[in-house]
Amino acid sequence: ILCASQDFDFYYFVQQWPGSYCDTQNSCCYPTTGKPAADFGIHGLWPNYKDGSYPSNCDSNNRFQQSQISDLTSSLQRNWPTLACPSGNGVQFWTHEWEKHGTCSESLLKQHDYFEAALDLKQRANLLRALTNAGIQPDGGFYSLSNIKGAIKDATGYTPYIECNVDASRNSQLYQVYLCVDTSGSGFIECPVFPKGKCGSQVEFPTF
Ligand code: 5GP
Ligand code: 5GP
Ligand code: 5GP
Repeated sequence: ILCASQDFDFYYFVQQWPGSYCDTQNSCCYPTTGKPAADFGIHGLWPNYKDGSYPSNCDSNNRFQQSQISDLTSSLQRNWPTLACPSGNGVQFWTHEWEKHGTCSESLLKQHDYFEAALDLKQRANLLRALTNAGIQPDGGFYSLSNIKGAIKDATGYTPYIECNVDASRNSQLYQVYLCVDTSGSGFIECPVFPKGKCGSQVEFPTF
């Protein structure tokens, strides 16, 4: 009641396809720990409101502390790798995500539980398996947006939102997958509202 800015309605759990981060005009840099696996990586777990708006940077006194998540570091390096330039070990990315988004969930999930929840959600969603089981592979081919969404819905039970970006040749491609999560961070839900943005009806699924 006192801290209304920390209340929110649900999370977007957002995963990125590394091939689509790296093949753009801007390119990418592999983490100092080495090239990540050819798998979706976590981008973030973002508190959101049902009207589509969202809180951010909710508590500047609650800084990211690596000591609180030391037991999760190797799993974060594998499942939440950073691809921004210059190369980093991930701490900068996790710090940004905690301070911008995580601090808005601290009334429900403290730092360790926030990162652990995201890692658990990634295992449960297994997007790459959902897609490859449906014949949708990161082979540089084009796939229909509705088939991509259908494959993820069949595997997880929930309707995803697909965000596209464009490669260096301006082809629309599968960049990020959003799933919605309840405020405890423990289970997927149908999204109360979807982000807005355009993909083609056919989108590229680049290699990585
Ligand atoms: P972009 O403008 O590239 O779509 O998003 C930039 C950043 O704004 C994202 O990485 C994320 O931190 C934040 N953001 C964008 N859209 C949303 C949204 O719908 N909900 C939340 N919670 N954050 C968002
Ligand atoms: P957001 O878009 O979540 O607000 O912010 C993403 C921030 O994290 C940007 O400053 C971006 O440079 C940094 N970042 C570091 N590694 C990555 C990555 O692998 N993917 C994305 N999307 N952003 C990253
Ligand atoms: P519908 O609601 O009929 O599935 O789609 C309405 C419009 O939204 C269509 O232009 C469709 O391409 C677009 N759309 C549907 N789902 C997604 C999605 O997950 N991501 C994006 N970017 N557009 C979508």
